[in-house]
Parts: sequence; structure tokens; C-alpha cells
Amino acid sequence: MKVVLLGAPGAGKGTHCKRIAERYGIVHLSSGDILRRERAEGTELGKKAQSYMDSGSLVPDDLIVEMMSRAVQKAKAGYVLDGFPRTVNQGQVLDRSLAAQGGEIDMVVNLEVDDQVVVERITGRRSCPKCGAVYHVKNMPPKVDGVCDKDGTRLVQRPDDTEEVVRNRLETYYRQTRPVVDYYKSGRTVHDIDANGDAGVVAGVIFGKLDPLARKK
Ligand code: AMP
Repeated sequence: MKVVLLGAPGAGKGTHCKRIAERYGIVHLSSGDILRRERAEGTELGKKAQSYMDSGSLVPDDLIVEMMSRAVQKAKAGYVLDGFPRTVNQGQVLDRSLAAQGGEIDMVVNLEVDDQVVVERITGRRSCPKCGAVYHVKNMPPKVDGVCDKDGTRLVQRPDDTEEVVRNRLETYYRQTRPVVDYYKSGRTVHDIDANGDAGVVAGVIFGKLDPLARKK
């Protein structure tokens, strides 16, 4: 099962992709997470990506396409893509490379959220640098302020989650990534889902779309 989850930053792609991966036993491939790992390991790719990420701009397509082609190739049996494709060109390259192997994306889900919700969600987001658990200062606070419930590590804010960078990430989204929704809509069904509300409810709607597909696979 090959799924693409689209949506603005803060739409809940990461949260829902984790749940989807667990429920259907497929791999969660997040381009942002892979890039952050490359940075933490100090690789050449990580160094090249750094300044783009910190300012909320997109990392150039050639770097991303190579990185994600490798990841997709390894997870051939099934995956949910989070944060990729983020340009029409990335989507076209992905489609071409899947078609060359006789495959295609099975379902595209698009999470829709209001800008104000995005800004509130992202600026309040905190994560554990050790285990990756994600919290929100208001909507999903840890038991002890600023400390991970799972391993007691002090929580951090992603450097690109500040209000100024979030505004740029949103602007980048509308200019470069929103057209990916129209690209997919021109050739197949895209499932638009209102993702402003409670994550549990949104997950139920997503599963309602994916369960029948999983039964067929
Ligand atoms: P994310 O964790 O998905 O919000 O991604 C964090 C940052 O990584 C983005 O703001 C971009 O700078 C970069 N990035 C992630 N995925 C892509 C992509 N598909 N194309 C270009 N840049 C990306």
C-alpha cells in the first residue's frame, strides 16, 4: 500500500502518518525527519540542507529526489509519504519512477487546516530530542512542564517552529507545495479532509478512507 499524505506544515501529517504506519504495517517516510537525521549525523546532504531548513525554504529538488528515491526503493512493500512530494516536479519524478517499475501511488490524502490553526499548532509544538515524542504546550502537554513523559529528557522547540519561520513556511507552502494537490487532482482522486479538529476524529476519517484499500491489498 503506497499512500501520500499532503497538507500544510502543522496540518498533522507527522501524527497521522505515524498512526497510519502502525495500523497498516507500512513504513512512515518523512522527508523532514530524514533531513534532520542527516543534519544530526553531519553528512554532506545534512550540511547542504541546513540553511534552507532553518529559514523555512525548500531544499533543492535534486537533493530531495535522490534522498527520497533511495528511501522509497528500500520500503517498496508499502509506505506513507510525509512531506514529500513538496513540489510538482518532485511529484512528477515520483510518478515516473513508480511507473517505470509498474507501480503507482494507491491513495492521496490532503489534510486541510486554517492558517491560524497552523501557527498555533506549530509555535506550541515541543519534542523530545531523545525519543522523538511530540507534545504541544496547550493541546497535548507533558505531565511535567518541559519534560518528556517517556524518558525525562528536556523538551526542545524545533528551530524552524518559531512564528517568523512558520510564516515563511506557510508562504512557501502556498507558492510551491499547494500546486501538488492540483497536480494529483488532475489525474486521480484526492481525498480532502478537514484537519482543523481533534486528531482522534481526523484519524477516524482517514482510516475510513484507507481501511477498504488495505483490505484489497
Ligand atoms: P518538515 O519536517 O516536513 O516540516 O520539513 C522541515 C524542512 O525540511 C522543510 O521546511 C524544508 O526545508 C525541508 N524539506 C522537507 N521535505 C522537503 C521536500 N520534499 N522538499 C524540499 N524541502 C523539504
